[in-house]
Amino acid sequence: MLTQAPKGTQDMLPQDSYRWQAIERSMREACALAGFREIRTPIFEHTELFQRGVGDTTDVVQKEMYTFEDKGNRSITLKPEGTAGAVRAFIESHMYADALPAKLYYAACPCFRYEKPQSGRLRQFHQNGVEVFGAKDASVDAEIIKLAMDILKANGIDGLKLNINSIGCPNCRKAYLEKLREYLRPKLPTLCKTCQERFDRNPMRILDCKEDAPKLTDAPAMLDNLCEECSAHFEKLKGYLTALGLEYRIDPRIVRGLDYYTKTVFEIITDTPDGGELTVCGGGRYDGLVEELGGPATPGIGWGMGIERMLMVQDIRGIVPAAPDYLDAFVVTLGDDARMAGVKLVAELRAKGVKADLDHAARSMKAQFKYAGKLNVKKVVVIAGDELEKGVVKLRDMEKSEETEVPAGEIVERIANR
Ligand code: ATP
Ligand code: MG
Repeated sequence: MLTQAPKGTQDMLPQDSYRWQAIERSMREACALAGFREIRTPIFEHTELFQRGVGDTTDVVQKEMYTFEDKGNRSITLKPEGTAGAVRAFIESHMYADALPAKLYYAACPCFRYEKPQSGRLRQFHQNGVEVFGAKDASVDAEIIKLAMDILKANGIDGLKLNINSIGCPNCRKAYLEKLREYLRPKLPTLCKTCQERFDRNPMRILDCKEDAPKLTDAPAMLDNLCEECSAHFEKLKGYLTALGLEYRIDPRIVRGLDYYTKTVFEIITDTPDGGELTVCGGGRYDGLVEELGGPATPGIGWGMGIERMLMVQDIRGIVPAAPDYLDAFVVTLGDDARMAGVKLVAELRAKGVKADLDHAARSMKAQFKYAGKLNVKKVVVIAGDELEKGVVKLRDMEKSEETEVPAGEIVERIANR
């Protein structure tokens, strides 16, 4: 128990964390290029924010939230996704009064969902995400999709499937929901309990139920029932995607179905070796959400991308980015005087941007060399008492197995200007 991490959580160990850092770096770089700035919101929020902001007819809210009462008897929830907190901060900080659109991103944001742990499904996972507030044209829908594709590509992941759909707006959805209810009504007794409860309030969610959706493939699609404005928006999106050279597939079954989610929804998915599919990125437009949470009517759109899922895709495809060198130089010392000189040398090397270290365990010279070898360090400096008196140190090139004597005063320059 004590030495076992909780179910559904994962350590990111030192030998792997460079891959995580590369993903995060690519996210920050791509976002900066496209005019996005970082927002960081708390790990927990008032439960009500997610009930309203994610929607209390979603799986996330109904089944998956980490909710608890704090010592002040407030209901608190660990964030299951990034959008609701960003919208709350947008409203609370009056960002809507600044220059719009506000283009925001978050990197490696911890998210918590009480899911059944299985491949690709963790209880604590991490999302990169973007949110844009105050932009209603479909050009921004295409822009954030392109951004997601670029970030995946920067991490060696391309050729993923882009599926898009439109789930309309409150205008066209009303008539559609009636049609959908008519279709669902006779099937109601065969649906799961959660879906039966969704029938009145949010029947579109039923189409997203992992259990029931396969039985409902001939359900009427929102896409065939769009109003003129939503239909025009979708056509424009397709035009922009084509102009950006992005291939897409229209999947009328994608529903991120809440009343305040509108128009564009999309998913970026990949096949898995066992014949399944893995969603790496999901997003959509939520033109009604800012208002729903108490702000002025402001269009919004965003996506979330699972970092662990990206790592999984890299693993599946055998994409292992090269690990950076752990250290550039290691300083081997013999004796107390030498260690004193070594401590100073390492500090000077680090100040020049050389990744350097020395033995802190008072080990034999042989053991120090062995250690440097294990770490694959290319340059080893040897400081020994007698040579120190002569004012020289030895520089050993571990790859070439060559050793040269260098005046102590020149060693930093020699290594730093390698
Ligand atoms: P799914 O259909 O796989 O349950 P979702 O619709 O619940 O996905 P979103 O809410 O759209 O997922 O989250 C965005 C992204 O976050 C997903 O595409 C995925 O990469 C990642 N993600 C979601 N849930 C988990 C989880 N439990 N473990 C790891 N990553 C996850
Ligand atoms: Mg889910």
